[in-house]
Amino acid sequence: MNPSFEDNLAEVRRRIQAACERVGRRPEEVRVLAVSKTRGPDCIREAAASGLMDFGENRVQEAKQKIPLCPTALTWHLIGHLQTNKVKDAVNLFHLIQAVDSLKLLMAIETAAEAAGRVMPVFLEVNVSGESSKFGLTPEAVPGILQAANGLRRVEIQGLLTMPPLAEDPEHARPFFHTLREHRDRWRQETGFELRELSMGMSHDFEIAVEEGATWVRLGSILFGNRNTL
Ligand SMILES: *Cc1c(COP(=O)(O)O)cnc(C)c1O
Repeated sequence: MNPSFEDNLAEVRRRIQAACERVGRRPEEVRVLAVSKTRGPDCIREAAASGLMDFGENRVQEAKQKIPLCPTALTWHLIGHLQTNKVKDAVNLFHLIQAVDSLKLLMAIETAAEAAGRVMPVFLEVNVSGESSKFGLTPEAVPGILQAANGLRRVEIQGLLTMPPLAEDPEHARPFFHTLREHRDRWRQETGFELRELSMGMSHDFEIAVEEGATWVRLGSILFGNRNTL
């Protein structure tokens, strides 16, 4: 029989704890986001039964179908690229938007959140590696965006997300995680934004990310099993 979600989660928590011990962090500082893209409501219900409340989806359209069929108490994070024409839906569906990658998008979220009468927590996605295939802000662009965001009242920039280049050896991700944290520490000093949250690390490299300061790890296959190619 396949291991259950609960078993997988217990193993992940053990590994997070071990990574924390290696660097003197407290495991409570690290939150697990269950990446539920391509998984149906039944899977998500099983995951929620194990006590996990935070779920990540990368496509607005998929989330729009799925979220109404899932338990209502869950917290939904958008972790994929968001197009401005989907912002209104995203603001209505999600509790947190983790991959804001332009000022234009940030302004569109501000407008939609205002219309919805809410405040939207967001993370900025930073392309640390400079890979052109990736979404995300260049590190150079971030201070200007933070400055522009100073006047916004409907978005709350709580942190940063990064995706390192794909590599078989998870150690290859370390310098990118490390650099994001260094940028964060500097931007915190320069701008007064606390940027408390660092969303970094996926199934194959989350322990490295935890060692480098992640507060959110985004885990799909290690919790749910391999995704069918969809
Ligand atoms: C799919 C996805 C993940 C999770 O990937 P796994 O390797 O299955 O853990 C994390 N972050 C983002 C942005 C994703 O799209």
